[in-house]
Amino acid sequence: MRLSRFLKGSWKPTLLSLFLLVASISYAALPEALEALAPDLILINGKIVTVDKDFSIQQAVAVKNQGIIAVGRSRDIQQLAGSKTRVIDLKGKTVLPGINDAHTHFLGFGLSRPPAALDVSSASVKSIAEIAVMAGRRAKEVKPGEWISGSGWDEGYLKECLEDPGVRHPTCWDIDKQTPDNPVCLVDFSGHNTWCNSKALELAKVTKNTPDPTGGEIVRDSKTGEPTGFFKENAQPLVRSLIPPPSKDQQIEALTVAMREMTAMGVTSITDASVSPELWSLYSDFYRKTFKEGKWTIRVNLLLNWSGDGAAAGKADLEKAFASVGLSTGFGDNWLRVAGAKIVADGIPLTKTAWMFDEYVGGGTGGLAIKGETEQHQYDALIEMIRFLNRKRMQIGVHSCGDRAVSASVDGFVKALREDPWDARHYVIHADFVKPSDLQTMAEYDIGVCTQNQIMSKIIEFMGNIAGPEKSANQWPLGDFNKAGVWVTQSSDTPVVIPNWKQGMENCLLRESMASGKVFGPRHRIPIKEAIRQYTINSAYQDHQEDIKGSIEPGKLADFVVLGEDILTIDPHKISGIPVLMTIVSGKIVFSTDKSIVTLK
Ligand SMILES: [Zn+2]
Repeated sequence: MRLSRFLKGSWKPTLLSLFLLVASISYAALPEALEALAPDLILINGKIVTVDKDFSIQQAVAVKNQGIIAVGRSRDIQQLAGSKTRVIDLKGKTVLPGINDAHTHFLGFGLSRPPAALDVSSASVKSIAEIAVMAGRRAKEVKPGEWISGSGWDEGYLKECLEDPGVRHPTCWDIDKQTPDNPVCLVDFSGHNTWCNSKALELAKVTKNTPDPTGGEIVRDSKTGEPTGFFKENAQPLVRSLIPPPSKDQQIEALTVAMREMTAMGVTSITDASVSPELWSLYSDFYRKTFKEGKWTIRVNLLLNWSGDGAAAGKADLEKAFASVGLSTGFGDNWLRVAGAKIVADGIPLTKTAWMFDEYVGGGTGGLAIKGETEQHQYDALIEMIRFLNRKRMQIGVHSCGDRAVSASVDGFVKALREDPWDARHYVIHADFVKPSDLQTMAEYDIGVCTQNQIMSKIIEFMGNIAGPEKSANQWPLGDFNKAGVWVTQSSDTPVVIPNWKQGMENCLLRESMASGKVFGPRHRIPIKEAIRQYTINSAYQDHQEDIKGSIEPGKLADFVVLGEDILTIDPHKISGIPVLMTIVSGKIVFSTDKSIVTLK
């Protein structure tokens, strides 16, 4: 590689040190000095999607001391290799910057996976009978009386339900024989339905005489009236609340599982989007343990939620929390840092609790989940909370799904930034529906959106019944955000879904329902390049770290994912199934389908 090309990049300081070093040593020692400057790792013969300003594609990349030192043609980069440089021939495979999932509940994801919970998702089982076998196997491993939990089942993929759609649902009798002595509680993929066995019904004291709680349903046998073990919405806590909370060790194990599994998916950065004071303390234990062991493989950004999770928060809660702990955005390091603070402004569209300007199908507009006697008091309290956190130099993510809640959050951001401006990059979390006139304001004040298109293909078909067909076609309005110049990041909101970012990208391109293949709101489709940006450089921007990650350019951290197919040219319907071959973070191979090359301790 030509020196002149090196000098153009941010490689300059290192190159300068090379000159100084060479100038200060004798001619004979030169090869040794150059050897010391050789890269640790080189990837050649790849299709490297750099996600730089021009979205340029390169063949090779060189890494030293955790960072990228050069990107270019294979034959140029290969010349930089020293005797100790590890050279990996990508054989044409595609490389993206490490994926940054901008909104997760990391502990919740870990707790939804084995060993904490059975994986009864469509990825691992195809029938009720298989789930019964799996629960039976687990019952033999645990003590009698111990709870067995699981999550992810989906009637749309279970053989028995598919043979008799709308009539056949899972029941307690399906799993009783295999689990006579253990209560079993299995939550479906959406979190809106719970399926349990007779032992759990017995412990919950639910009988044919138990009335349905408000907003929930205990499903009953049409002939006998006996509960079938199927609980909908607000009826679920009757069983779920009985499961003892996981111990601290189980929680640390769950975080370890979450880190390992998401690393294998090509994720190198996440935001944990709701960190309570308890979770904050768990993270510090997890960090102490895991980091020392060399097993910390994902950059974690914490969005502190110290005002209660959706349970009507107020400014007093925030003042109390911040009075004892002085924190602001950026505290920590590149592995574990405080991103900012979260406020939960409203509910979710699916349960008609998101705050909307127009009525839902069947009435109601939802409302704010903020403390206050009247709507106006709640609105004022939201604005006050935003102003308070902005003054504390906290970047703020406000959960707002409904267009009216988004509008109120934008009002708060604008007010706070006008009186106290800084490079805050506040953002709206979810933003399912947005009033067109708010888009310009968002762009003007650099207010972003953290959205979850991965969920779209599962629920968009049903949203018409909730918000009306026209509104639902404009849910997740990526086209409008792009047109207005509002920055957007993508995320899974796991454990709502298994965090498959490729499914998220596929949905961004297609906007198709998984159930019928029908397209909803095609004008909000975005091209693959933009979808990649939303999962990489845009998420890095949300993290205030776009100068050190999010693209493959000299001077940035060496975080990559190697894919089994070319994501830029493959049929979009196949993106979700592309295998991840390798994950590299800080230049370390932390996951590989070829286990012999993993450098993780
Ligand atoms: Zn969330």
